[in-house]
Amino acid sequence: MTPSDRRRGPGTPAWLPIRDELRGEEPYGAPQLDVPVQLNTNENPYGPSDAAADDIAASVRAVATGLNRYPDREATALREALAAYLGHGLDASRVWAANGSNEVMQQVLQAFGGPGRTAISFAPTYSMYPEYARNTHTRWVTGQRRDDFTVDVETALQLIATEQPDVVILTSPNNPTGTALDPEHTRAVLEAASGIVVVDEAYAEFRRAGTPTALELLEEFPRLLVTRTMSKAFALAGGRLGYVAAHPAVINALRVVRLPYHLSAVTQATAEAALRHTDELLAQVDALRDTRDRTADRLRMSGFTVAESDANFVLFGTFADRHATWQALVDRGVLVRETGPLGWLRVSIGTPAEMETFHTALQEVTSA
Ligand SMILES: *Cc1c(COP(=O)(O)O)cnc(C)c1O
Repeated sequence: MTPSDRRRGPGTPAWLPIRDELRGEEPYGAPQLDVPVQLNTNENPYGPSDAAADDIAASVRAVATGLNRYPDREATALREALAAYLGHGLDASRVWAANGSNEVMQQVLQAFGGPGRTAISFAPTYSMYPEYARNTHTRWVTGQRRDDFTVDVETALQLIATEQPDVVILTSPNNPTGTALDPEHTRAVLEAASGIVVVDEAYAEFRRAGTPTALELLEEFPRLLVTRTMSKAFALAGGRLGYVAAHPAVINALRVVRLPYHLSAVTQATAEAALRHTDELLAQVDALRDTRDRTADRLRMSGFTVAESDANFVLFGTFADRHATWQALVDRGVLVRETGPLGWLRVSIGTPAEMETFHTALQEVTSA
């Protein structure tokens, strides 16, 4: 968590009997500014195809006449479709879905964290994790990544030995750095940890060739959870659908803490329809990976330091006053993210035309 990720508001009224740890807190979120080039929340710049959009519309229409009834509490058809997409011999009993992988992760901490329990992760990483910990009264501890943003396995094992965490959160590829984990390190963590180990693979589809997924380790490690999302590669951030693959006993624990009917019939129909168009929705992933690599090369040629990325964004720097750079880019209609270690900025990968605008604006800003 960096200072700019931590938003303190103008204050909570003294009369409001809010929990002490929430007093003065601001809700999480990147600025949603109405500028022409939005490269700040790692969305897919390519919307769903017409065929996918038509299927989504028809599927939502079909459930609309039944909206007087509660939806399928178990979202069985959707979980079957997600399991089929993941492969690796998974079925609905090993897959769980919720409103974004953010909700999945909060359910994980509700079930496996809580008062008297500890969760750990390795910074810099996703700035929402400490908020799930706060919301569930889970003690939050962070280890540090190396200067190149990889996780040093000795540091990780040492932290596990001293903290005995109930939950370890690994992120691969990591946000905001783009760093993928070495699978041997994931294995070492799984062997050392007595608690739950979550590998957040929100950006898995963007990883470079030869980078394995933690799904391969599920059979061997029943306390491993692998989370995914339809928000990034599937171009469905607005649909709110995240999911997790794990042992059926883990899935049952999440079913205990979920709110009744947490996944609406509209959401289930939307996600099921989107999954019928997986090939079309993922069609742009290769192009985005290519644009990512070209973006990183071009930033390096311009003299910036760029973190190795297996995701659909690039962390680059460093700037003496990154906020000034961020603002100057906004003034030129380009919105990037002010996140990560001080001095760095993160740019999500857009269309080639959007990236051209970004490079031009950045050049103007930094040569001025
Ligand atoms: C974007 C992102 C998610 C996905 O969030 P959703 O709630 O599924 O939209 C999860 N983890 C990380 C690290 C992310 O960057």
